[in-house]
Amino acid sequence: MRVVVLTGGIGGARFLLGVRAYAREVGAEVTAVVNVGDDLRLHGLRVCPDLDSVLYSLGGGADPERGWGRTGESWTVKTELAAYGAEPSWFGLGDKDLATHLVRTTMLDAGYPLHQVTDALATRWQPGVRLLPATDDRLETHVVVTPPDDAGGDGQRAIHFQEWWIRYRAQLPTHRFVFVGAEAAKPAPGVTEAIAGADVVLVAPSNPVVSIAPILAVPGVREALAGTPAPVVGVSPIIGGAPVRGMADRCLAVVGVPCSAAGVGGLYGSRTTGGLLDGWLVAEEDAGTQVPDVTVRAVPLRMTDEAATATMVRAAVELT
Ligand code: GDP
Ligand code: CA
Repeated sequence: MRVVVLTGGIGGARFLLGVRAYAREVGAEVTAVVNVGDDLRLHGLRVCPDLDSVLYSLGGGADPERGWGRTGESWTVKTELAAYGAEPSWFGLGDKDLATHLVRTTMLDAGYPLHQVTDALATRWQPGVRLLPATDDRLETHVVVTPPDDAGGDGQRAIHFQEWWIRYRAQLPTHRFVFVGAEAAKPAPGVTEAIAGADVVLVAPSNPVVSIAPILAVPGVREALAGTPAPVVGVSPIIGGAPVRGMADRCLAVVGVPCSAAGVGGLYGSRTTGGLLDGWLVAEEDAGTQVPDVTVRAVPLRMTDEAATATMVRAAVELT
């Protein structure tokens, strides 16, 4: 059995722990297609926050409390950069994490595509699932905002997603998201093949607007999902009208979608009408949720531990 998962960072990584546990039980192979829209260059280094969250989580090296970055991290380089007044200062770059970015950047600069670099990093972390970036090409999520220094109030500017999310905590007047480079991006080798050859495709309970949408924005990915014989089943990141953690509510408001399991299900839409989903797994709190032409089921959706998450995954796989 072959399982493909579309995923973002922290929420997706937690989901993948359950997918891996389920896959070990049933003897399935897992391919994770990971968002790269959050990627950025910092101090000359290429940082891939979602790939790293997944890699560290599945490799047992993620900080469980912070949710991102490494366990037992130290911050010497960050402190030294601050002493130089080097910007940006708002991004958390730990010393251990920096080693990953150094290795990645060296390989990219030597000409290796991101999917090969990711394979090389996975040699150390042994995540137990195949990790594929959605694309090897540059695809960055930018956010069109009214900046805080805009006296007149009508000057809009695009900033990197990470600046919007981390520096401004998504609190600026926000107009839209732009996936820079998406039109020209190609799916990384293996992505459309994995989707076409899957027995089931799962959409992780990741942020629909800034984790899943940038994957879908790569030309060819939506077509592969529309054409696969496998059922496509999504898991709601919204429980009882609120994100479990993070600021997905802010993102949904920007695209005019209600922050609810029904809202996100409707945003993805039914595969029978040009959308994404055959099935939509919602939380018990959201029982009764309806999405036109999509099979909806309510089960416990809190990823409290690996076993609970694996049970969720089984329900998703068995939904259609
Ligand atoms: P990011 O890239 O690090 O922001 O992480 P993702 O986009 O992969 O996941 C973020 C989403 O995970 C948020 O919208 C949360 O609501 C969702 N999430 C986190 N924990 C849980 C959980 O226990 N259950 C469900 N259903 N969703 C969760
Ligand atoms: Ca992310």
